[in-house]
Amino acid sequence: MKLHERLFLVGSGSLGFGLTDPFDCHVYALRMPTSVILIDSGSGRDPNRIIDEMTADGLRPDAVSHVLLTHGHADHAGGAAYWRDAVGATVVASEEISSALTSGDESAISLDRARNCGMYPGDYKFQPCVVDEYAESFSSFQFGEELIECIPTPGHSLGCVSYLWVTDERRHLFTGDSLFWGGRLALQSIYDCDLQQSLDSVRSLAQLEFDALLPGHLGIDLSSGKSHATAAMSVVDRMGVPANIQG
Ligand SMILES: [Zn+2]
Repeated sequence: MKLHERLFLVGSGSLGFGLTDPFDCHVYALRMPTSVILIDSGSGRDPNRIIDEMTADGLRPDAVSHVLLTHGHADHAGGAAYWRDAVGATVVASEEISSALTSGDESAISLDRARNCGMYPGDYKFQPCVVDEYAESFSSFQFGEELIECIPTPGHSLGCVSYLWVTDERRHLFTGDSLFWGGRLALQSIYDCDLQQSLDSVRSLAQLEFDALLPGHLGIDLSSGKSHATAAMSVVDRMGVPANIQG
């Protein structure tokens, strides 16, 4: 699904627009001068549906050079191994979760609990994936003349990061599960979810300048993205906790 000339939504499951496998997060494809970059990879249950979307959008799946992961949860990172193996894509993730992804440690990414409570099918397995580069604090990835900046946004789970992509037209913020439409958060009863860190991450994001909010699920805002960070921050400023996407 074309969002604009250089940005496409090529994966999205039941917490989104039902484009691809129901367990996929939003998977974004960025058209760069000589390659395609994916932000998150979906669950890996059916990468062919993502490939079909890319092809329909005029993108070459074999041109995927990098997969930038926002965090290690299976709906975001489960497909990374496919892209690394099939087309040699460089997989980027926080150092904090790299060993869990490499070894396929399902407890470390809370997949065991999520599967037990029915959030994933009983036969779903995480495909272990080597992390090629760390999304270190405030590091930038250079793609031709453009940079994609990594912004640490801990709290939702261990090693959460957001990515800021600035083009001539607009500033795009990919937040994974760190901030959603309406200023909502994804706080879960898992070992590595940290409320205070989540609220501090809201503050970091609210201090950024950006136009487009491109989260890992639910609504997308191409022009007034900052308003969602501002909405969350106004709750935090009143000592509150923004609403949760999970009831
Ligand atoms: Zn998550």
